[in-house]
Amino acid sequence: MKRQKRRVVQIGDVQIGGTAPISVQSMTNTDTRNVKETVTQIKQLEKAGCELVRIAIPDQSAASKVAQIKEEIDIPLIADIHFNYKLALEVLEQGVDGLRINPGNIGSEEKIELVANKALEYQVPIRVGVNAGSLEKELLQKHGHPTAEAMVESALGNIELLEKFGFEEIIISLKASDVMMTLKAYQLIIQEVDYPLHVGITEAGTIKSGTVKSAVGIGAILAQGLGDTIRVSLTGDPVEEVKVGFQILRALNLRDQGVNLISCPTCGRCEIDLVKIANRVEEEIGDLDKSIEVAVMGCVVNGPGEAREADLGIAGGKDVGLIFKKGEVIKKVSGQELVNELLIEIDKLE
Ligand code: SF4
Repeated sequence: MKRQKRRVVQIGDVQIGGTAPISVQSMTNTDTRNVKETVTQIKQLEKAGCELVRIAIPDQSAASKVAQIKEEIDIPLIADIHFNYKLALEVLEQGVDGLRINPGNIGSEEKIELVANKALEYQVPIRVGVNAGSLEKELLQKHGHPTAEAMVESALGNIELLEKFGFEEIIISLKASDVMMTLKAYQLIIQEVDYPLHVGITEAGTIKSGTVKSAVGIGAILAQGLGDTIRVSLTGDPVEEVKVGFQILRALNLRDQGVNLISCPTCGRCEIDLVKIANRVEEEIGDLDKSIEVAVMGCVVNGPGEAREADLGIAGGKDVGLIFKKGEVIKKVSGQELVNELLIEIDKLE
C-alpha cells in the first residue's frame, strides 16, 4: 500500500501527516472537572501506548482544569469544544496542545476570528471534526439525510472559515457510524484539500462490535493509504481503544509497536486448555513495550511449523510442551512450566 502524503501538522511533540508514523489517540471518559480521575485515566492510556489524548470541555469549570491536567501528563492534550468560543480561548491560555472544534458551530465570524488568531498565536492546531450525526441543518435539507458528500461539504465550509483568517494548521476528520459512508467521505475529501486526516468510525459500539466495525472501517481507509492518526471509539474502557488501534495498525504493517500475540483456533489435536493459556499469556505480556510476535499453539506436531514467523512461541502437549523460536524448538518443558518458561525467554529478547 502506498500512503498518501499529506501536509504536516504538529500537536505538541507529535507530528501528524507527512511521513510521520500513524499515531494512535483516545479520549477520556472521566469528568474533566475531576483532575485526579482524569489524570489517572490518561496515565493508564499512556501506559497502553496512547500518543495523544482528548478531553471533553463542557463548561468553564472543565476549561479551567486544563493547565493542571497538562502538568501531570506526558502526551499532547487536545480539548474537545462545542458551541462556546470562550472555552476555546480559555484552554488555549491554559496551554492545551490541540483543539477539536467546528468553527461553524461557534457562532459569528468575529468569534471564529478570535479563536483562529489565538490558536495561531499559541501555534495550536485545530481539528475540524465532522460527524454525520450533527451536520448543519442546511446541509441536511440540501442532501436529504447524512451523506458522504454532505460531510465533505461541511468540512470544506468549516475549513474555509479558518482559512479566511489565515489559519492552516488544520486536521480533518469525517466520522459516521456507517463504515461505507465514512470511507467514501475520506475518498472525496482528499480530492479537495491536503490537510492531514484523523480517521475513526464514530459510535462504533461495545468492545466487541465496536472493535469489528473499527477494524473494518479504519482498516479499509488505511488500506487505501489514507489516514495520519486514528481513534477507535468504543463504549468501554478507553485503554481498549488504544490496544485495538495498535492492533489495526499492526495488522496492516503500519506500526510494529507492542506484542503481537497469535494463537491457533485449536482443533482435535489440541490436548491442553489453550484458551486459558492464551489468556494468561495475553495478560502477562499484553502491555510489554517490545515489538515482537509471540505464538501460543495447541499441539507440538504442527504448532512450531504453523507459527514459524513468530519470534517466540509455545506449543502445548499433554505432558511435555515446546518453546520455539522462528519455528525451531529451543526447549522442552513440562506443561505446567510452559508459560513461565516462555516469559523467561521473552525477557531475554531485546
Ligand atoms: Fe490444531 Fe495444532 Fe494447528 Fe492448533 S496448532 S490448530 S492444535 S494442528
